Order: sequence, then structure tokens, then C-alpha cells
Amino acid sequence: MPQRETTLTEFIIGEQRRFPGATGGFTALVNDIRLACKRIAYVVGKGALARIHGAAGTRNVQGEEQQKLDVLANEMFLRTNEWGGHLAGMASEELEHPYRIPDEYPRGRYLLAFDPLDGSSNIDVNAPVGSIFSVLACPEGVAGDEERAFLQPGARQVCAGYAIYGSSTMLVLTFGRGVHGFTLDREIGEFIHTHPGMRVPEDTAEFAINASNVRFWEPAVKRYVDECMAGRSGPRGKDFNMRWIASLVAEAHRILMRGGVFLYPRDEREQGRSGRLRLLYEANPIGMVIEQAGGRASTGYGPVLEVEPAGLHQRSGFVFGARNEVERIEQYHRDHNVRPYDAPLFGSRGLFRAQG
Ligand code: MN
Ligand code: MN
Repeated sequence: MPQRETTLTEFIIGEQRRFPGATGGFTALVNDIRLACKRIAYVVGKGALARIHGAAGTRNVQGEEQQKLDVLANEMFLRTNEWGGHLAGMASEELEHPYRIPDEYPRGRYLLAFDPLDGSSNIDVNAPVGSIFSVLACPEGVAGDEERAFLQPGARQVCAGYAIYGSSTMLVLTFGRGVHGFTLDREIGEFIHTHPGMRVPEDTAEFAINASNVRFWEPAVKRYVDECMAGRSGPRGKDFNMRWIASLVAEAHRILMRGGVFLYPRDEREQGRSGRLRLLYEANPIGMVIEQAGGRASTGYGPVLEVEPAGLHQRSGFVFGARNEVERIEQYHRDHNVRPYDAPLFGSRGLFRAQG
């Protein structure tokens, strides 16, 4: 008799049995999310054979060019999750307003917010992409197609996670009791519990940031990166490596698998814009996963999961990963509120010194 493998469905039912008050509706909801991710994995895995690569010729509410796969993945999420009766409403990166559950289907008490295809510019180069999802309870007396239903801090998420469509497809999720990873077995069509109790190491010597934005960084970020780059001879006394995949899911997954710290900080480009990543369906769900794995998720200034959202597509600075590194970055933000940083990054010894 081979060793028995636990499927995602069995895992969720097991979790449900531990909480006598939990309903089967939640299990069914996670099953539908799983199916949406399997459908997207199938299309993404077909690559050019699916003949749906390239731009859709449209822009989403954020002004970003939509890929055909962005549009298709969004449809797959909506169609797979709208009918089951567990949801009061949905919100998507690709939709300006919350999605109203069609009248022919029953309504439930949960809200689902998602980024159907994260890192879609990676599709053409065959690099990993993913889907990100966040589940909230719909507040009493508020309809699930009202924007204010979704404006809850990330700490209130009841479930969050992502799928990564890489060399294998994985689903990584949390119900608030640790983080679990499941690998898609394509032959039997099931996600298998391959990564129980995923943890982010507290320390690291690997950071990820888009260094082309250096000229816009705030002093705290300049100082942090500067000190990493100075390596063994600098204040940190050790050499660092740098990574950048430009896909939030792929960055989060790497950090869960082997540690690291990720920064997409608020910068000085646009006053009033507080970062690039979206709070409700990017930073909050990834933040919950990272915190549940023992890491820390921050705006740079404080816990991302405590931010009171003001809008469905609100952006946020986002710094997450190794707890000690993120706390250090937060400390630097506090320090440089009161005294400026004389950035050697741009000084005579600086690594990004302008060549004149
Ligand atoms: Mn995204
Ligand atoms: Mn997307």
C-alpha cells in the first residue's frame, strides 16, 4: 500500500471538522477557487498552442494594458465562483466596480477579491505567473456589490492565498492557522498537500527590488539597499544577493521556499500615490500568507494588514519577507522621518554614482 497522499479537498474538510461551527459553504468556496486556478493553469500551460497570447487591445481600470490572458483568467474566476451560492460579491483587478452575483444564483456571506493573473507580462517569456485571492466575510447589512463591503483591513481575511503557474502548478493558502502548499498532479487532476507548515526564515542575505527606480526611493529604502550592497565591508558585515522576477506571486513564492525580503516601496514619483501594488487583492492576501508563515508584511511604515482601505483599487507600498529585515526597514523609515539620510549611494563612494 503506497503512502496515502492528502488532497486539497481532504485537507479543507479536515480543517472544517476541527471547527464545529464552520459550514460546508466555506469548503465549497475554496473548492471553486481551486477549480478556477486549475482552469487557468491549463490555459497558461498550453503556451502559444492556446493562441491567446498578446495584448487584448484594451486597458483595465488602472490604465494598464490588458493581455488576452488577463481577460480570460478574469472570466474564469467570475464564471467558476459566481454560481455556488457562497459569495455575496467579487472584486477583481480587472473590474472597476465590485461584481454583482447574477440574480439567478443564490447569495452567500463571503466576499472574494482577486488578481486573476499576476505578472501577466511574464507570459510571453515563459516565466512564472499566478493568481492571488482574498476571502472576507461580508459585513451585516451591506450588499456584496457595494464597494464599502470590501473596505476591510487585511487582518479580517478568513482565507488568502495564491496559485503559481511555474514549472509546476502550486496552490499556497492559509485559513489563519499556518501556510500550506499543494502541488497539482496533472494526471489525477488534484492538488496534493506537498508543503505543510511553510515558514519564512527570520533572517536572509537576499533582497528583491526594482533598482531602476532608485532615483525615486525614499531615504529609508536608499539606506537599506545601500547597506546591503556594501556587503561584507559595510555596516551589515555580510554579502547580499539580489533577485527580481517582476511578478509578485513568483517573488512571494521564492521567499516562502528559501527566504528573502521583497520591497516595492512607496516612492517620490507621484504625490498622493502610496505605492504600486494593490492593497485588497495583492498586498493583503500575500501579506496574510507571509505573516502566517512567520514573516512580516509591511507598508514600509507599519503592518500592511492593519491598513484601513479607502478604495477598491487602492495602492500601497509593500515590503515583506524575513521578519528581522522588514523590522529593520521599518526602523529606517522611522529614523528618516526625523533626520535625513546622507545617501552614500549617490556620494563619492556610491554604487549608483552618476558618471560625469
Ligand atoms: Mn498583479
Ligand atoms: Mn493581474
